[in-house]
Amino acid sequence: MAKVLSKEEWKKRKKLYAYLKLVAAAMLALLIVLILLIGLIKVVRNLFSKGDLTSSASPTMKQELDITELFLTPNGYTRPQNTLKEVKGIVIHYVAKSGSSAVENRNYYEGLKSNSTSKTAESCHFIIDLDGGIVQCIPLNEVACASGTRNEDTIAITFCHPQIDGEPTAQTYESLLKLTTYLCAEYGLTKDAVIRHSDLGDQSCPKYFAEQEGKWAAFLAELDTALGKVAKEKK
Ligand SMILES: [Zn+2]
Repeated sequence: MAKVLSKEEWKKRKKLYAYLKLVAAAMLALLIVLILLIGLIKVVRNLFSKGDLTSSASPTMKQELDITELFLTPNGYTRPQNTLKEVKGIVIHYVAKSGSSAVENRNYYEGLKSNSTSKTAESCHFIIDLDGGIVQCIPLNEVACASGTRNEDTIAITFCHPQIDGEPTAQTYESLLKLTTYLCAEYGLTKDAVIRHSDLGDQSCPKYFAEQEGKWAAFLAELDTALGKVAKEKK
């Protein structure tokens, strides 16, 4: 048999119900606020990550590149782990050590981590080998130490070369073009965002392209054509 409640007990029970209702309402309100907040964060994020919105790179583009990740050990000189917040350009360099391989150059950067006497801060996101293979030294959400004041908003690519003239091999050239095309597509950049280190004042880098405007113009024209193709395929 149900217990008959006294007036006092009824009052208590009513109070408890009222309290529970209030808690439920508060939780619901909190949930709604949370959902709205997450929605707002997503909208703001999309507004600021232009790259995501305009990216026309297909997943196969990256797969076609022969990239080996050999990230440098985090250190204050060559991999300071500063966040690369926004990519506004790509800077092209050359390694300036004739005949050296991508791994040798990567290991040179790695060796600089303990080189506190020379305090040389030198690194690159990508190094393109003599055979067209690519070594990645720095993740794309971190800055590299390659392009002075533009480290903060650019991706740095350097390439190997057999001779002192800095001319890339056919395979290196092809990889350089493919990698640059992929990165432009990925970050929604045009050929105008691709520059030489010499455009930032270092007149000797990358020697081959810095000294021969025609070769550089030809590279940019090929890049433009490749990007046009990517955009068409996207449609
Ligand atoms: Zn350079």
